Amino acid sequence: MPPILHADADSFFASVVLRSCPALRATPMAVVVHGFVASSNYPARDRGVTGGMLVTDARRRCPGLALFDVPQGEVEETADALFDLFASVAGAVEPGSMEEAFLDVGAGDDESGDAAAVRAGAELRRRAWQELGIPVSVGVGRTKLMAKLASRAAKPDGLHVIDAATEQRLRSTLPLAKVWGVGRQTLERLEALGVRRLGDLDGVLPERLLDACGTMMTRRLLGIRDGSDDATVRPVSERTVLSSEGSIAGYARPDWTVAELVETCIRRVCKRAMRAGLGATGLTIVVRGDAAAASAVLATMKAVAPVPTAADDPSVWLRMAAAELARLPVDAVADAGSVRASLTGLRPLAGIPPTLF
Ligand SMILES: [Mg+2]
Repeated sequence: MPPILHADADSFFASVVLRSCPALRATPMAVVVHGFVASSNYPARDRGVTGGMLVTDARRRCPGLALFDVPQGEVEETADALFDLFASVAGAVEPGSMEEAFLDVGAGDDESGDAAAVRAGAELRRRAWQELGIPVSVGVGRTKLMAKLASRAAKPDGLHVIDAATEQRLRSTLPLAKVWGVGRQTLERLEALGVRRLGDLDGVLPERLLDACGTMMTRRLLGIRDGSDDATVRPVSERTVLSSEGSIAGYARPDWTVAELVETCIRRVCKRAMRAGLGATGLTIVVRGDAAAASAVLATMKAVAPVPTAADDPSVWLRMAAAELARLPVDAVADAGSVRASLTGLRPLAGIPPTLF
């Protein structure tokens, strides 16, 4: 199998902030959203400050920790630029989140494959730093799991290769706790069967594995054990939904109105759909509150296009959104904290007729 890359920006939100205050790179700093640490730089991590931690706890662990709000607009712009960069070095890009992706760089299946993948990864890292000011770590491996384990080993700001020989060893020695997507309960049930590492799976009857972790997880773990786990980079052009989120409250900008934020999100998501050559049949807008109960949904609006519609002209979607917003309850407008706009029913533009309305 040819090697693929997993590229992952290091402490992304923090890295975006640090571009405008590089003097803080060597000191502990963190980016905060709704009272929680969203991202911390490595000096802060060395002091025990990690993502998801309450800001009050982070301050206790690390007095003098510099705190910043999430620069939402700049974060999204940088993520867009990062994916433009991914697309320029890879034939296929499968996003994992806004700042990480699997990349198929066309590396060969033979011995030179690793070297070609490393060259592509090094070039990506160099350009991300020079053009965007963002450190990106890159892992090289023959399946998604191996590439992801490699990028984890590469951090911070590095490149790591899991070659074929290392991969073979990992397929028996890797602790299950390091396989992403295996929850704590599953780990505990497997441990009760004496399974801590991939190789331990061999000593357990299949029906006992099924009892412990269900059909899907059993299949996945056995696939990883025998080397048939997922190695296919699936590009955005195969997505059926794309979303963009933003908050009303700004960092270094005035607060937006709900309508302004909806427009910004729609323009962003249209841009992503266009880049992937996709048209859509629906638009969903979710408005959430802004206080501690940030997850509370205040309103969900859906609009459907009569025919699949290209995203190159956001005005179609903006008109639909405006009509929905006009029906939004006054309370929802007043209490809004964040907005998510999703284009749904995505499909490749080829074969979609031009917009008729
Ligand atoms: Mg990251």
